[in-house]
Amino acid sequence: MTTRIPLPFSQFVVKVHSRCDLACDHCYVYEHADTSWRTRPKVIGDEVLAKAAERIGAHAATHRLPAVRVVLHGGEPLLAGPDRLRLVAEALRAALPPGCALDLRIHTNGVLLGRAFCELFAELDIKVGISLDGDKAANDRHRRFADGRSSHPQVLRAVALLREPAYRRLFAGLLCTIDVENDPVAVYRALAELQPPAVDFLLPHATWDDPPKRPSGAGASPYADWLLTVHDLWEADGRPFAVRTFESVHRTRRGFTSLTESLGLEPSDLVVLETDGTFEQVDSLKTAFDGAPATGFDVFAHSLDDVARHPGIAARQSGLAGLSATCRSCPVVRTCGGGLYAHRYRGDDGGGGFDNPSVYCGDLMTLINGIAARSGPVAVPAQAAAPVVPAALTPAQVDELARGYGSADTVAALTRSQLALTRAMLAAAWDASGQGRAEAWSVLSALDGAAPAAVDAVLAHPYARAWAARCLAGDLGTGLGPLAALAAAAAVRAGRGDAVAVPVRGGWLHLPTLGRIAVPDGEAVVTGAADGFTVRASDGTVHTALDEPLRRIRLAGGWTVALEDLDPLRDSHDHAVSDRLSDTELLDWAGALREAWELLGRDLPRYAEGIRAGLATVTPLRPGPAGRDVSSAARQAFGAVGIAQPATAPTLALLLTHEFQHVKLGAVLDLMDLYDRNDDTLYFAPWRPDPRPLEGLLQGTYAHLAVTEYWGTRTLAYDGLPGEAADRARREFALWRRYTAEAIERLAESGSLTGTGVRFADGMRATVAPWLAVPLPAAAEQAAARARQERAMV
Ligand code: SF4
Repeated sequence: MTTRIPLPFSQFVVKVHSRCDLACDHCYVYEHADTSWRTRPKVIGDEVLAKAAERIGAHAATHRLPAVRVVLHGGEPLLAGPDRLRLVAEALRAALPPGCALDLRIHTNGVLLGRAFCELFAELDIKVGISLDGDKAANDRHRRFADGRSSHPQVLRAVALLREPAYRRLFAGLLCTIDVENDPVAVYRALAELQPPAVDFLLPHATWDDPPKRPSGAGASPYADWLLTVHDLWEADGRPFAVRTFESVHRTRRGFTSLTESLGLEPSDLVVLETDGTFEQVDSLKTAFDGAPATGFDVFAHSLDDVARHPGIAARQSGLAGLSATCRSCPVVRTCGGGLYAHRYRGDDGGGGFDNPSVYCGDLMTLINGIAARSGPVAVPAQAAAPVVPAALTPAQVDELARGYGSADTVAALTRSQLALTRAMLAAAWDASGQGRAEAWSVLSALDGAAPAAVDAVLAHPYARAWAARCLAGDLGTGLGPLAALAAAAAVRAGRGDAVAVPVRGGWLHLPTLGRIAVPDGEAVVTGAADGFTVRASDGTVHTALDEPLRRIRLAGGWTVALEDLDPLRDSHDHAVSDRLSDTELLDWAGALREAWELLGRDLPRYAEGIRAGLATVTPLRPGPAGRDVSSAARQAFGAVGIAQPATAPTLALLLTHEFQHVKLGAVLDLMDLYDRNDDTLYFAPWRPDPRPLEGLLQGTYAHLAVTEYWGTRTLAYDGLPGEAADRARREFALWRRYTAEAIERLAESGSLTGTGVRFADGMRATVAPWLAVPLPAAAEQAAARARQERAMV
């Protein structure tokens, strides 16, 4: 739990070949201050590779990382050859612990990228990023062979290959190094024409000692002007691909994390491994001075935790405190973050080393203010203080979620990322509360090292994060009691003798994930033991058993879901919650859940698999007026759905599926922006009379994707049969397939989807498209049209 340990690395740049087949004159590896490449082996050797994989795997296991990203780099990594690249990929995959996803990428100049490499990368799931500076004139300015020949035709051929349907999923994007003498319009148009999923526009590496070129007559901030021109084209085109620089400005202004190390205050979690097995800091430091990226550490003698404690790495993890005085008092510092660390360097006497604003300071300020002026004021969300959560989903998993589904592995990845977010939010909430209940925090921190499974089990409880979110939003009405209760529950689960004092209100001591004990108000001391627990209440009485345990329903296939009718924070669903269920009510729920689960497993297996992996809790709600179905997910309570028990098990199956779509999408939105959060337009969903913010339309569409499939499977089950239930299934399918298809187009036409958001809309559209072609009786279509008219008139 402690936030004081070094931040684990989750991104690794592995140099697999240290030479290049191009001679780009702006290359920071060969053309800048650092000359260490001269003495390194050309290709990464077997021993270095094996040890590096072992170190990365051990680091992922120690820090329970949900995913790591490894970028194969150079020099030119394709020069390592297909056999060596296969060895690298296989060694990395084999070394990672179960449950840790590998996002494997390669950054190449594209010259050698042919069909054989693409086949290999498809087999090994390696995404490909290609360096391309724009149109031919722009690319030829720097990216040439040693004899002066252009590399542009070869790069275009490589991109064309990646755009073929068989390889499209491998295409990670383009990396474009800016030259302000290139025409930004021509550069943008040339890159956009290639329909990349993402483009990184990179400032050329420079320092105060070796400043960037600023052509005469180009104005005071030529790099900002250049980027703003591109930004405006990108916005006008509806953000056709992701641009991390622009999206990071939008995100950080709203208190979210930056997506790039060159902006924002997030700590760096990236380390570089050279072909000789030495660990280095980021490559951009090569531009500062000879030897600047060196750490003195190597894979054979040092763990990645050792490297994380290196002062140079720590300096890139110290946020605001690590910036120059000028930056710390700068109005845009939370977005800018002082720019890329290397760009702050000034080496002359009294120059301060890295204790300076960026050499691009004026450009960064103009860029950020320019984007801000175009997008208007923003409100900072409550989670602003939450630390960064490592990337958790592979592109294939994003695509799978975009289709509406989510396998067990994908939902498990979301669950891990949510657990990481809960931990971060709890730490931030504890800090925000003035670090009260220090002994409870200290028990939780100690158990996190000694009994991590006990802590994980408690923090995976959906309402743990709900408490942290309330604290961070300034609602401290519940005090720190829930935090102490979480620590006490972890102590009971760990059974090591740890004791935690928990405040009691309303006559119940609640232990999250376990149950509650009737004790007088005051302070109760909970002690975990190997054979149970003791609770010493404020009146001196000692209790060794739960009076009301949390009850779990065992479902077919051997998994259980909690029926949460105890936790005081279960009111997070915006609906009145049921009191403790009677035994009869409990039996009713158990029967309905078992029947609903059987139906889900049979009819909606692609949703059921994810529900099983991620649904921890069903919270019974009070019935709606006139028997109306009531159900709700809570954005701050991943893994829980609130439902008022409906009349039938099939309806329960439908509500579970519908609400779990919200649970999944909420977790996705915690990881990535799918739309411009600055869009305050209200949009009509086809099924509602009132307009909603864009996130509401997106959430509704995603949930109704599953609703449509539910009715589609019901229609199939009643294939050709008469009867009221069959007619209803056909009518609902006819209605919801149209509603959902229309809503997807409304999202797409909003102009506010990000590149990933567009990909999500494409995925949903691909799922709905075949349903629209399913023939239905005219009576079903007419009934759907009537139902639609009736809804419109409400
Ligand atoms: S704009 Fe300049 S002063 Fe402000 S944070 Fe960035 S580099 Fe520092």
